Amino acid sequence: MTPPPHHLQTQLIHAGEPQPRPAGALVLPVYQSATFEYQGQRSYDQLRYIRLNNTPNHQALHLKLAAISGAEAALVTASGMGAITTTLLSFLGAGDHLLAQDCLYGGTLSFLNEEAGALGIEVDFIRGNDPASWAPLLRPTTRLIYVETMTNPLLEVPELEAVVGFARRWGLVSAIDNTFASPVNFRPLELGFDLELHSATKYLNGHSDIVAGCVMGRSAHLAQITRRLNHLGGSLDPHACFLLHRGLKTLALRMRQHDENALALARFLEGHPQHQRAKRLFSGCGGVLSFELQGGTAAADRLIAALELPVSAPSLGGVETLITRPATTSHAGLTLQQRPALGISEGLVRVAVGIEAAQDLCADFAQALDQL
Ligand code: PLP
Repeated sequence: MTPPPHHLQTQLIHAGEPQPRPAGALVLPVYQSATFEYQGQRSYDQLRYIRLNNTPNHQALHLKLAAISGAEAALVTASGMGAITTTLLSFLGAGDHLLAQDCLYGGTLSFLNEEAGALGIEVDFIRGNDPASWAPLLRPTTRLIYVETMTNPLLEVPELEAVVGFARRWGLVSAIDNTFASPVNFRPLELGFDLELHSATKYLNGHSDIVAGCVMGRSAHLAQITRRLNHLGGSLDPHACFLLHRGLKTLALRMRQHDENALALARFLEGHPQHQRAKRLFSGCGGVLSFELQGGTAAADRLIAALELPVSAPSLGGVETLITRPATTSHAGLTLQQRPALGISEGLVRVAVGIEAAQDLCADFAQALDQL
């Protein structure tokens, strides 16, 4: 009898581990070697070399990432932006057209606004919640539709099932940045997305000590993206592979705590418009929440200064709670007109909740709010 497939928690620990273990080592060592002895490979891409993303550390990580996302194949990159730009440039060239959600991560948005045009790639931005508005934007050259699971910092959840249906109907590649949910809370490939991307800097690694990215999907797509990455050169160093591999093992445990903590801090978010869709599709909502204070920017800055546990820093997905005003960090690159158009006020506060005890975080917020 075939045993049932392992649960995600088990795959995080055991999937992709080399058998036999090298020298019996329980933990895969770092192979800090740029190049490897020739063993009769017959093509350049098969030669073992860090930039070709095929050292033992890359291979084990790829197998683990593919297993946990239900993909045929995976690829790690030097950053989340490396995963995003390499993927887009694998399917889009001069004359091609992209449909992209309008409220994307700032780096992705500025790549599309500032670089894509110069490469001859045309972009139309779509409202994630309005599928009826997508078809009129289609062109014969449309190749790909790109969304995020939850937008930063407002946590809008697009009509994800409609994105999959739309891509299938019109023969587009569908790609989703699933950083904010992680494969623990949402499994895009099972819903029918072609490609799942992450800033592995965030939850996947979880310890705020590396920058990394990854993309998962079908083997043919991943072969195409790997070829492009091998040319662009944005490979992850083996030591960063090792740290990401280690961080992944505790992903399920950490996500449970992020989910619980953020929910404890976010009771007031219950009336959030996309809460029902999030509840239907996701196992948890992750650790990010945003809110405004009645006293605006000045009150937000006083709150951030008065908090003792959250560190004032951009990013998310680490074990420690971080707090920022997106207008000064993730969305500082937008103008005073662009931010409100995306619903981001100057005083908006974003908390990336860590895995401290929820009671301690709530008590810290209580004392800080008392000082306002
Ligand atoms: N995607 C999302 C949703 C992000 O929040 C970020 C970074 O904050 C990125 C992509 C880019 O990732 P990286 O900083 O690893 O390049």
